Amino acid sequence: MAFESESPLDTLWKEYGRVFADFDDLTLARWLAQTLGQLEGKAWRLSHPLVGAYRLAAQLGHDRQIWHKRLATAPVAYAESPCCRAPFLPLLTRDVRESGLICQHCNETLVPFDEIPAELRGEIESWAQQYEPVHAVAHWDDRQRKRAGSYDAAYENAAQEAEKFLAFAGKNLAPKLLNFYAAAIWEDQDECLEVRPEDVPM
Ligand SMILES: [Zn+2]
Repeated sequence: MAFESESPLDTLWKEYGRVFADFDDLTLARWLAQTLGQLEGKAWRLSHPLVGAYRLAAQLGHDRQIWHKRLATAPVAYAESPCCRAPFLPLLTRDVRESGLICQHCNETLVPFDEIPAELRGEIESWAQQYEPVHAVAHWDDRQRKRAGSYDAAYENAAQEAEKFLAFAGKNLAPKLLNFYAAAIWEDQDECLEVRPEDVPM
């Protein structure tokens, strides 16, 4: 979130996040550890309010090096992340082939694509590969748009396809991550195609 230029939504999330700024380190560490217990064993939508709150607290916890201070212990099911030593909490996005699974604490790559367990990597790869040209419709240049005839129709069609790809990730891919990780999060929107979480039924 921090790397993108500030949108009104970013400003709003920053405002939401202020609640955690009032927590001292010990309170923040306990809140994170307890909430990880509640997240455990499930695949979560990125848009879920509990996940949103956790991400805000986790980023602040990262800034304050909470997990290095060992103030609270995460539930044992969570391994330690190689990127920042926080508990292992991966996010699956359509960019998984380039970025791997993303750490929800430091926003870096938590699991490089090549290190995703082999029995799952192929399925994730073909999903991301098929999704890519659909997402790309949002970024077509003028020539590509003209070639399509009606760009509005092509865009709408792509948005409907994207809804299906996202639902597939939520139903079929994210739950399988639970065979390897204590909890998992999947991106349930495509902002470039204006697909919102409520457009992605489970
Ligand atoms: Zn990390």
